[in-house]
Amino acid sequence: MQKKPLDTDHCSFCGKSNKETGLLITGLHASICENCLRDASVVLDEMYGNTVHDEEPARYQYEESRLKTPREIHEFLDQYVIGQEEAKKFLSVAVYNHYKRIRSNGKNDVDVEKSNILLVGPTGTGKTLLANTIARMLKVPFAIVDATVLTEAGYVGEDVESILTRLLQASDYNVARAEQGIVFIDELDKIARKSDNPSITRDVSGEGVQQALLKLLEGTVVNVPPQGGRKHPEQHLIPVNTKNILFICGGAFEGIEKKIAKRLNTSVVGYGMAEKKAHIDKDNLIRYVAPQDLRSYGLIPEIVGRVPVITFLKRLDRTALLDILTKPKNALVKQYKHLFAMDGIRLSVDKDVMEYVVDTAMEFNLGARGLRSICEAIMVDAMYECPSSGRKTLRITLPYAQKRVDKITKII
Ligand code: ADP
Repeated sequence: MQKKPLDTDHCSFCGKSNKETGLLITGLHASICENCLRDASVVLDEMYGNTVHDEEPARYQYEESRLKTPREIHEFLDQYVIGQEEAKKFLSVAVYNHYKRIRSNGKNDVDVEKSNILLVGPTGTGKTLLANTIARMLKVPFAIVDATVLTEAGYVGEDVESILTRLLQASDYNVARAEQGIVFIDELDKIARKSDNPSITRDVSGEGVQQALLKLLEGTVVNVPPQGGRKHPEQHLIPVNTKNILFICGGAFEGIEKKIAKRLNTSVVGYGMAEKKAHIDKDNLIRYVAPQDLRSYGLIPEIVGRVPVITFLKRLDRTALLDILTKPKNALVKQYKHLFAMDGIRLSVDKDVMEYVVDTAMEFNLGARGLRSICEAIMVDAMYECPSSGRKTLRITLPYAQKRVDKITKII
Protein backbone atom coordinates (compact mmCIF):
# COMPACT_ATOMS: atom_id res chain seq x y z
CA MET A 1 0.00 0.00 0.00
CA GLN A 2 1.28 3.50 -0.83
CA LYS A 3 2.01 5.84 2.05
CA LYS A 4 -0.31 8.87 2.27
CA PRO A 5 1.53 12.17 1.67
CA LEU A 6 1.83 14.38 4.73
CA ASP A 7 -1.03 16.87 5.11
CA THR A 8 0.64 20.16 6.03
CA ASP A 9 -2.63 22.13 6.13
CA HIS A 10 -4.35 20.24 8.98
CA CYS A 11 -3.39 19.40 12.54
CA SER A 12 -2.78 15.64 12.77
CA PHE A 13 -4.19 15.63 16.33
CA CYS A 14 -7.46 17.61 16.18
CA GLY A 15 -7.92 17.65 12.39
CA LYS A 16 -8.56 21.42 12.21
CA SER A 17 -7.21 23.33 9.21
CA ASN A 18 -4.45 25.90 9.63
CA LYS A 19 -6.95 28.64 8.79
CA GLU A 20 -8.79 27.89 12.04
CA THR A 21 -5.85 27.01 14.25
CA GLY A 22 -3.20 29.66 13.61
CA LEU A 23 0.33 28.36 13.89
CA LEU A 24 0.79 24.84 12.54
CA ILE A 25 4.14 23.15 13.15
CA THR A 26 5.01 20.45 10.67
CA GLY A 27 7.43 17.64 11.40
CA LEU A 28 8.51 14.67 9.28
CA HIS A 29 5.32 12.65 9.71
CA ALA A 30 2.76 14.91 11.41
CA SER A 31 1.62 18.47 12.01
CA ILE A 32 0.48 19.98 15.29
CA CYS A 33 -1.49 23.18 15.94
CA GLU A 34 -1.01 25.74 18.68
CA ASN A 35 -3.96 24.51 20.74
CA CYS A 36 -2.89 20.87 20.72
CA LEU A 37 0.65 21.96 21.57
CA ARG A 38 -0.67 23.86 24.59
CA ASP A 39 -2.78 20.87 25.67
CA ALA A 40 0.25 18.62 25.32
CA SER A 41 2.36 20.96 27.41
CA VAL A 42 -0.29 20.91 30.18
CA VAL A 43 -0.08 17.09 30.17
CA LEU A 44 3.72 17.35 30.40
CA ASP A 45 3.46 19.81 33.27
CA GLU A 46 1.11 17.50 35.12
CA MET A 47 3.42 14.54 34.62
CA TYR A 48 6.77 16.14 35.34
CA GLY A 49 5.85 19.28 37.26
CA ASN A 50 6.44 22.64 35.60
CA THR A 51 9.91 21.72 34.33
CA VAL A 52 9.34 22.70 30.72
CA HIS A 53 8.65 26.32 31.57
CA ASP A 54 10.91 26.53 34.58
CA GLU A 55 13.89 26.87 32.24
CA GLU A 56 12.64 30.08 30.61
CA PRO A 57 13.54 32.68 33.21
CA ALA A 58 16.99 31.17 33.63
CA ARG A 59 17.68 31.33 29.91
CA TYR A 60 16.73 34.94 29.40
CA GLN A 61 17.99 36.79 32.37
CA TYR A 62 18.91 40.17 30.99
CA GLU A 63 15.45 41.61 31.51
CA GLU A 64 15.24 40.86 35.17
CA SER A 65 18.85 41.42 36.14
CA ARG A 66 20.84 44.62 36.26
CA LEU A 67 22.32 45.53 32.89
CA LYS A 68 26.07 45.09 32.71
CA THR A 69 27.88 48.40 32.15
CA PRO A 70 29.95 48.86 28.96
CA ARG A 71 33.10 48.23 30.98
CA GLU A 72 31.68 44.97 32.34
CA ILE A 73 30.58 43.91 28.86
CA HIS A 74 34.11 44.63 27.61
CA GLU A 75 35.55 42.51 30.42
CA PHE A 76 33.22 39.67 29.56
CA LEU A 77 34.30 39.85 25.91
CA ASP A 78 37.96 39.79 27.00
CA GLN A 79 37.43 36.27 28.35
CA TYR A 80 36.67 34.95 24.87
CA VAL A 81 38.03 37.41 22.31
CA ILE A 82 41.69 38.38 22.02
CA GLY A 83 42.58 41.97 21.10
CA GLN A 84 40.20 44.04 18.93
CA GLU A 85 39.93 46.63 21.71
CA GLU A 86 38.32 49.30 19.55
CA ALA A 87 35.59 46.96 18.32
CA LYS A 88 34.93 45.70 21.84
CA LYS A 89 34.53 49.26 23.11
CA PHE A 90 32.10 50.29 20.36
CA LEU A 91 30.15 47.07 20.70
CA SER A 92 29.91 47.31 24.49
CA VAL A 93 28.54 50.84 24.34
CA ALA A 94 26.13 50.07 21.50
CA VAL A 95 24.75 46.97 23.19
CA TYR A 96 24.44 48.70 26.54
CA ASN A 97 22.55 51.61 24.97
CA HIS A 98 20.37 49.26 22.98
CA TYR A 99 19.06 47.36 25.96
CA LYS A 100 18.82 50.53 28.04
CA ARG A 101 16.72 51.97 25.24
CA ILE A 102 14.39 48.95 25.22
CA ARG A 103 13.83 49.33 28.93
CA SER A 104 13.21 53.05 28.85
CA ASN A 105 11.24 53.66 25.64
CA GLY A 106 7.61 54.45 26.17
CA LYS A 107 8.28 55.37 29.80
CA ASN A 108 9.26 58.98 29.11
CA ASP A 109 9.22 61.63 26.38
CA VAL A 110 12.56 60.85 24.78
CA ASP A 111 12.55 57.90 22.42
CA VAL A 112 16.11 56.72 21.94
CA GLU A 113 16.80 55.54 18.39
CA LYS A 114 18.21 52.13 17.64
CA SER A 115 21.93 51.77 16.88
CA ASN A 116 22.70 48.82 14.65
CA ILE A 117 26.37 48.01 14.37
CA LEU A 118 28.77 47.30 11.49
CA LEU A 119 32.02 45.41 12.08
CA VAL A 120 34.50 45.83 9.23
CA GLY A 121 37.54 43.57 9.14
CA PRO A 122 39.24 40.68 7.37
CA THR A 123 37.87 37.17 7.66
CA GLY A 124 38.80 35.18 10.76
CA THR A 125 39.44 38.18 12.99
CA GLY A 126 36.59 37.61 15.42
CA LYS A 127 33.52 39.38 14.02
CA THR A 128 31.16 36.43 14.47
CA LEU A 129 32.83 35.53 17.74
CA LEU A 130 32.17 39.01 19.15
CA ALA A 131 28.50 38.96 18.18
CA ASN A 132 28.08 35.42 19.47
CA THR A 133 29.75 36.22 22.78
CA ILE A 134 27.55 39.27 23.32
CA ALA A 135 24.41 37.20 22.73
CA ARG A 136 25.67 34.52 25.10
CA MET A 137 26.29 37.11 27.78
CA LEU A 138 22.86 38.67 27.46
CA LYS A 139 21.13 35.31 27.08
CA VAL A 140 18.98 36.62 24.24
CA PRO A 141 18.04 34.68 21.11
CA PHE A 142 20.79 34.96 18.52
CA ALA A 143 20.82 34.11 14.82
CA ILE A 144 23.62 34.24 12.27
CA VAL A 145 22.72 34.75 8.63
CA ASP A 146 24.84 35.03 5.57
CA ALA A 147 23.87 37.95 3.33
CA THR A 148 25.12 36.09 0.26
CA VAL A 149 22.14 33.68 0.28
CA LEU A 150 19.61 36.51 0.30
CA THR A 151 17.97 37.68 -2.88
CA GLU A 152 15.16 40.02 -3.73
CA ALA A 153 11.72 38.38 -3.26
CA GLY A 154 10.77 36.21 -6.20
CA TYR A 155 14.31 35.21 -7.19
CA VAL A 156 16.26 32.03 -6.49
CA GLY A 157 17.70 32.24 -2.98
CA GLU A 158 16.20 33.17 0.35
CA ASP A 159 13.80 36.03 1.07
CA VAL A 160 15.10 38.58 3.53
CA GLU A 161 12.36 37.49 5.97
CA SER A 162 14.17 34.17 6.43
CA ILE A 163 16.57 36.07 8.71
CA LEU A 164 13.73 36.36 11.19
CA THR A 165 12.76 32.72 10.79
CA ARG A 166 16.17 31.81 12.22
CA LEU A 167 15.65 34.16 15.14
CA LEU A 168 12.21 32.67 15.81
CA GLN A 169 13.75 29.20 15.78
CA ALA A 170 16.48 30.35 18.17
CA SER A 171 13.82 31.61 20.58
CA ASP A 172 11.70 28.45 20.37
CA TYR A 173 9.05 30.49 18.52
CA ASN A 174 8.63 32.84 21.46
CA VAL A 175 7.86 35.98 19.44
CA ALA A 176 8.31 38.42 22.35
CA ARG A 177 11.81 37.04 23.01
CA ALA A 178 12.73 37.01 19.33
CA GLU A 179 11.69 40.66 19.12
CA GLN A 180 14.50 41.55 21.53
CA GLY A 181 17.15 39.28 20.09
CA ILE A 182 20.33 39.86 18.14
CA VAL A 183 20.89 39.03 14.47
CA PHE A 184 24.37 38.83 13.01
CA ILE A 185 24.33 39.47 9.27
CA ASP A 186 27.62 38.23 7.90
CA GLU A 187 29.18 39.25 4.59
CA LEU A 188 27.21 42.45 4.22
CA ASP A 189 29.84 43.59 1.73
CA LYS A 190 28.68 40.89 -0.69
CA ILE A 191 25.38 42.69 -1.29
CA ALA A 192 27.09 45.92 -2.26
CA ARG A 193 25.89 47.41 -5.50
CA LYS A 194 27.84 45.86 -8.33
CA SER A 195 27.81 48.89 -10.56
CA ASP A 196 27.81 52.62 -9.90
CA ASN A 197 24.88 53.04 -12.21
CA PRO A 198 21.82 51.49 -10.55
CA SER A 199 19.70 51.59 -13.71
CA ILE A 200 21.80 49.38 -16.01
CA THR A 201 20.46 45.95 -15.03
CA ARG A 202 18.43 44.51 -12.22
CA ASP A 203 20.71 43.69 -9.34
CA VAL A 204 18.68 41.04 -7.50
CA SER A 205 21.34 40.03 -5.03
CA GLY A 206 22.77 43.50 -4.53
CA GLU A 207 20.76 46.68 -4.32
CA GLY A 208 17.46 44.78 -4.32
CA VAL A 209 18.46 42.95 -1.15
CA GLN A 210 19.73 46.12 0.43
CA GLN A 211 16.31 47.72 -0.13
CA ALA A 212 14.56 44.72 1.43
CA LEU A 213 17.00 44.65 4.33
CA LEU A 214 16.47 48.32 4.99
CA LYS A 215 12.96 47.78 6.32
CA LEU A 216 14.18 45.18 8.78
CA LEU A 217 16.99 47.36 10.04
CA GLU A 218 14.70 50.37 10.42
CA GLY A 219 12.15 48.56 12.50
CA THR A 220 8.92 47.31 11.04
CA VAL A 221 6.42 44.50 11.42
CA VAL A 222 7.41 41.65 9.11
CA ASN A 223 5.27 38.61 8.37
CA VAL A 224 7.61 35.69 8.81
CA PRO A 225 7.13 32.14 7.48
CA PRO A 226 7.76 29.99 10.60
CA GLN A 227 9.60 27.29 8.68
CA GLY A 228 11.49 29.61 6.35
CA GLY A 229 11.58 29.17 2.61
CA ARG A 230 9.48 31.18 0.23
CA LYS A 231 6.24 32.77 1.34
CA HIS A 232 3.12 31.39 -0.31
CA PRO A 233 -0.47 32.65 -0.09
CA GLU A 234 -1.98 29.98 2.19
CA GLN A 235 0.92 29.85 4.59
CA HIS A 236 0.42 30.91 8.19
CA LEU A 237 2.78 33.83 8.89
CA ILE A 238 3.97 35.11 12.22
CA PRO A 239 4.15 38.91 12.58
CA VAL A 240 7.48 39.96 14.10
CA ASN A 241 8.33 43.54 15.01
CA THR A 242 12.00 44.31 14.33
CA LYS A 243 11.99 47.61 16.22
CA ASN A 244 13.96 46.21 19.15
CA ILE A 245 16.03 43.60 17.35
CA LEU A 246 19.69 44.54 17.35
CA PHE A 247 21.39 43.94 14.00
CA ILE A 248 25.13 43.46 14.04
CA CYS A 249 26.52 43.35 10.52
CA GLY A 250 29.93 42.11 9.51
CA GLY A 251 31.96 42.18 6.35
CA ALA A 252 35.53 42.01 5.09
CA PHE A 253 34.95 44.82 2.55
CA GLU A 254 37.99 43.68 0.67
CA GLY A 255 39.72 46.55 -1.09
CA ILE A 256 37.99 49.26 0.95
CA GLU A 257 41.41 50.50 2.01
CA LYS A 258 41.81 51.98 -1.47
CA LYS A 259 38.62 54.02 -1.03
CA ILE A 260 39.75 55.11 2.43
CA ALA A 261 43.17 56.10 1.13
CA LYS A 262 41.61 58.08 -1.70
CA ARG A 263 39.32 59.93 0.70
CA LEU A 264 42.11 60.65 3.14
CA ASN A 265 44.30 61.93 0.35
CA THR A 266 41.69 64.31 -0.96
CA SER A 267 40.28 65.42 2.37
CA VAL A 268 43.58 66.20 4.03
CA VAL A 269 44.25 69.45 2.24
CA GLY A 270 45.00 72.93 3.36
CA TYR A 271 46.67 74.16 6.47
CA GLY A 272 48.66 71.49 8.34
CA MET A 273 48.17 68.98 5.54
CA ALA A 274 51.66 67.52 5.68
CA GLU A 275 51.48 67.07 9.43
CA LYS A 276 48.08 65.34 9.30
CA LYS A 277 49.21 63.05 6.51
CA ALA A 278 52.27 62.05 8.48
CA HIS A 279 50.03 60.84 11.30
CA ILE A 280 48.03 58.46 9.12
CA ASP A 281 48.67 54.83 9.99
CA LYS A 282 49.18 53.62 6.42
CA ASP A 283 49.48 49.94 7.34
CA ASN A 284 46.15 49.97 9.06
CA LEU A 285 43.91 52.16 6.95
CA ILE A 286 40.83 50.15 7.94
CA ARG A 287 40.78 52.01 11.27
CA TYR A 288 39.67 55.16 9.43
CA VAL A 289 36.65 53.49 7.83
CA ALA A 290 33.77 55.96 7.61
CA PRO A 291 30.22 56.02 6.17
CA GLN A 292 31.43 57.68 2.94
CA ASP A 293 33.74 54.72 2.23
CA LEU A 294 30.88 52.25 2.63
CA ARG A 295 28.82 54.27 0.19
CA SER A 296 31.58 54.35 -2.38
CA TYR A 297 31.98 50.60 -1.83
CA GLY A 298 28.37 50.10 -2.97
CA LEU A 299 26.11 50.22 0.08
CA ILE A 300 23.10 52.43 -0.50
CA PRO A 301 23.04 55.56 1.69
CA GLU A 302 19.87 54.42 3.49
CA ILE A 303 21.58 51.23 4.68
CA VAL A 304 24.65 53.15 5.79
CA GLY A 305 22.33 55.44 7.73
CA ARG A 306 20.80 52.45 9.50
CA VAL A 307 24.08 51.14 10.84
CA PRO A 308 25.31 54.22 12.65
CA VAL A 309 27.91 52.42 14.77
CA ILE A 310 30.84 51.50 12.53
CA THR A 311 33.96 49.92 13.89
CA PHE A 312 36.85 47.80 12.63
CA LEU A 313 38.77 44.65 13.45
CA LYS A 314 42.48 44.36 12.82
CA ARG A 315 44.28 41.54 11.08
CA LEU A 316 45.59 39.31 13.87
CA ASP A 317 49.35 39.32 14.36
CA ARG A 318 51.56 36.50 15.60
CA THR A 319 51.22 37.39 19.28
CA ALA A 320 47.43 37.55 19.02
CA LEU A 321 47.29 34.15 17.31
CA LEU A 322 49.51 32.66 20.03
CA ASP A 323 47.19 34.08 22.67
CA ILE A 324 44.14 32.69 20.85
CA LEU A 325 45.60 29.19 21.14
CA THR A 326 45.88 29.30 24.92
CA LYS A 327 44.21 32.27 26.61
CA PRO A 328 40.45 32.49 25.89
CA LYS A 329 38.10 30.58 28.19
CA ASN A 330 37.51 28.03 25.44
CA ALA A 331 40.95 28.27 23.80
CA LEU A 332 41.83 25.45 21.41
CA VAL A 333 44.58 23.96 23.59
CA LYS A 334 42.22 24.01 26.59
CA GLN A 335 39.62 22.17 24.53
CA TYR A 336 42.07 19.41 23.56
CA LYS A 337 43.28 19.08 27.15
CA HIS A 338 39.69 18.70 28.25
CA LEU A 339 38.95 16.08 25.58
CA PHE A 340 41.96 13.97 26.62
CA ALA A 341 41.26 14.46 30.32
CA MET A 342 37.88 12.82 29.75
CA ASP A 343 39.83 9.69 28.78
CA GLY A 344 42.08 10.05 31.84
CA ILE A 345 45.02 11.34 29.77
CA ARG A 346 47.07 14.41 30.70
CA LEU A 347 47.96 16.30 27.54
CA SER A 348 50.88 18.71 27.29
CA VAL A 349 51.87 20.75 24.24
CA ASP A 350 55.41 22.13 23.87
CA LYS A 351 55.72 25.88 23.44
CA ASP A 352 57.56 25.54 20.12
CA VAL A 353 54.61 23.50 18.79
CA MET A 354 52.30 26.44 19.41
CA GLU A 355 54.71 28.80 17.66
CA TYR A 356 54.90 26.38 14.77
CA VAL A 357 51.07 26.21 14.53
CA VAL A 358 50.85 30.01 14.46
CA ASP A 359 53.59 30.37 11.85
CA THR A 360 51.88 27.80 9.64
CA ALA A 361 48.52 29.56 10.02
CA MET A 362 50.14 32.85 9.03
CA GLU A 363 51.79 31.17 6.05
CA PHE A 364 48.40 29.92 4.87
CA ASN A 365 46.99 33.42 5.42
CA LEU A 366 43.90 32.03 7.11
CA GLY A 367 43.91 34.16 10.25
CA ALA A 368 42.61 32.47 13.37
CA ARG A 369 40.44 30.21 11.23
CA GLY A 370 43.52 28.25 10.18
CA LEU A 371 44.54 27.41 13.74
CA ARG A 372 41.83 24.85 14.23
CA SER A 373 42.48 22.86 11.06
CA ILE A 374 46.21 22.78 11.73
CA CYS A 375 45.61 21.61 15.32
CA GLU A 376 43.19 18.96 14.08
CA ALA A 377 45.81 17.67 11.66
CA ILE A 378 48.31 17.39 14.49
CA MET A 379 45.94 15.79 16.99
CA VAL A 380 43.90 13.37 14.90
CA ASP A 381 46.27 10.37 15.18
CA ALA A 382 46.56 10.79 18.95
CA MET A 383 42.82 11.25 19.34
CA TYR A 384 42.34 8.04 17.38
CA GLU A 385 44.92 5.89 19.21
CA CYS A 386 45.03 7.17 22.78
CA PRO A 387 41.57 6.23 24.09
CA SER A 388 42.32 2.53 23.50
CA SER A 389 46.03 2.64 24.42
CA GLY A 390 45.70 2.84 28.21
CA ARG A 391 48.32 5.61 28.41
CA LYS A 392 48.05 8.32 31.05
CA THR A 393 50.08 11.15 29.52
CA LEU A 394 50.67 12.55 26.05
CA ARG A 395 53.25 15.17 25.10
CA ILE A 396 53.10 16.84 21.71
CA THR A 397 56.60 17.76 20.54
CA LEU A 398 57.71 19.81 17.55
CA PRO A 399 58.89 16.87 15.37
CA TYR A 400 55.61 15.06 16.09
CA ALA A 401 53.61 18.13 15.01
CA GLN A 402 55.76 18.85 11.94
CA LYS A 403 55.37 15.32 10.64
CA ARG A 404 51.57 15.58 10.76
CA VAL A 405 51.36 19.07 9.30
CA ASP A 406 53.68 18.05 6.45
CA LYS A 407 51.06 15.53 5.40
CA ILE A 408 48.40 18.23 4.88
CA THR A 409 50.65 20.91 3.41
CA LYS A 410 51.29 18.54 0.55
CA ILE A 411 47.56 18.65 -0.21
CA ILE A 412 46.97 22.38 0.34
P1 ADP B 1 35.03 36.35 11.21
O1 ADP B 1 35.73 37.65 11.51
O2 ADP B 1 35.33 35.88 9.83
O3 ADP B 1 33.58 36.38 11.57
P2 ADP B 1 35.18 34.40 13.33
O4 ADP B 1 34.72 35.23 14.47
O5 ADP B 1 34.19 33.44 12.75
O6 ADP B 1 35.77 35.30 12.16
O7 ADP B 1 36.51 33.62 13.75
C1 ADP B 1 36.76 32.28 13.42
C2 ADP B 1 37.36 31.56 14.60
O8 ADP B 1 38.66 32.08 14.87
C3 ADP B 1 36.58 31.78 15.88
O9 ADP B 1 35.66 30.77 16.14
C4 ADP B 1 37.65 31.78 16.95
O10 ADP B 1 37.94 30.47 17.35
C5 ADP B 1 38.86 32.30 16.25
N1 ADP B 1 39.08 33.74 16.46
C6 ADP B 1 39.04 34.70 15.50
N2 ADP B 1 39.35 35.90 16.00
C7 ADP B 1 39.55 35.71 17.31
C8 ADP B 1 39.91 36.60 18.39
N3 ADP B 1 40.11 37.92 18.19
N4 ADP B 1 40.03 36.06 19.62
C9 ADP B 1 39.84 34.74 19.84
N5 ADP B 1 39.53 33.86 18.87
C10 ADP B 1 39.39 34.33 17.62
